[in-house]
Amino acid sequence: SIVVTGATGHLGALIIDHLISRGISAAEITGVGRNADRLAALSATGVHTATVDYSDAASLATALAGAGADTLVLVSGSEVGQRVQQHTNVINAAKAAGVTRIVYTSAPKADTSALILAPEHKATEELIRASGIPFTILRNGWYTENYQNVVAVARQSGTYLTSAGTGRVSSASRTDYAEAVAAVLTSPGHEGKTYELSGDVAWDGTEMATALTTLLGQPVVFTSVSPEQHAGILQNAGLDEGTVGFVVALDGNIRDGLLDGTSGELATLIGRPTTPLLDGLHAA
Ligand code: NDP
Repeated sequence: SIVVTGATGHLGALIIDHLISRGISAAEITGVGRNADRLAALSATGVHTATVDYSDAASLATALAGAGADTLVLVSGSEVGQRVQQHTNVINAAKAAGVTRIVYTSAPKADTSALILAPEHKATEELIRASGIPFTILRNGWYTENYQNVVAVARQSGTYLTSAGTGRVSSASRTDYAEAVAAVLTSPGHEGKTYELSGDVAWDGTEMATALTTLLGQPVVFTSVSPEQHAGILQNAGLDEGTVGFVVALDGNIRDGLLDGTSGELATLIGRPTTPLLDGLHAA
């Protein structure tokens, strides 16, 4: 059977939808996570479910053995800073349960990138290689859904403000990345491969403002500020120090071109163009 972690989250749920669309029966799939309400909703669709916490090795061992897992889709966790230990627990449990294939959702150029989120993904990729279990690494680029909040802010303020300068982002919709997981599990030739996934188009701040203008039907202008100005604005808006540092560092990463790759590998895997920015914002 196929075990999908993070099945109670956005990406994991879409992965399960796409697996079923591509002909895998719901009965072959076990979705795991913590959120009891979401697990119940998933169960109602005919998918098996199990409760796991990445920090609880016993819960993982029980779930993977109970599911008779041969394939594991490891959707990276969301608790930044804890993920290396958590993913270690998942990979150890997979090995103990006799899993013969792991698909992992990583980050762009995780092994070499200065992206602030890369180190945990790099470490996880290394753990997967060291496990000896055949794998496919899907290095997911940015989600267009990350800009949901930007739409709300633009509606109120008429601006799209960043400290990313002329940096570009090759975002794609979660459904595109989810479909790629289903594609690698339903077609041959992906073992041992590492794919750099992203949207087909890398947009800059001006192009985002144009998309927001179209989406909202009101003028939205791009406002480019320095990292220092950006930090001040976010502090004044009441964000805590950690969040301010994170947001400004990510814009720095975008300015440095760490999220602008357009390898075309996502479109190739899913057999269609990725969802354009405007469509992705609209759906989000
Ligand atoms: P969500 O926040 O919607 O889902 C996260 C999932 O991870 C949930 O199912 C959650 O389970 C599960 N999870 C987190 N911690 C644990 C834990 N300790 N034990 C068990 N399950 C856990 O995120 P998305 O679906 O949008 O994204 C999936 C992943 O992609 C994220 O977790 C993150 O690693 C990464 N990401 C990538 C982005 C990008 O732009 N490429 C942006 C944001 C995240 P539950 O809710 O049941 O606790």
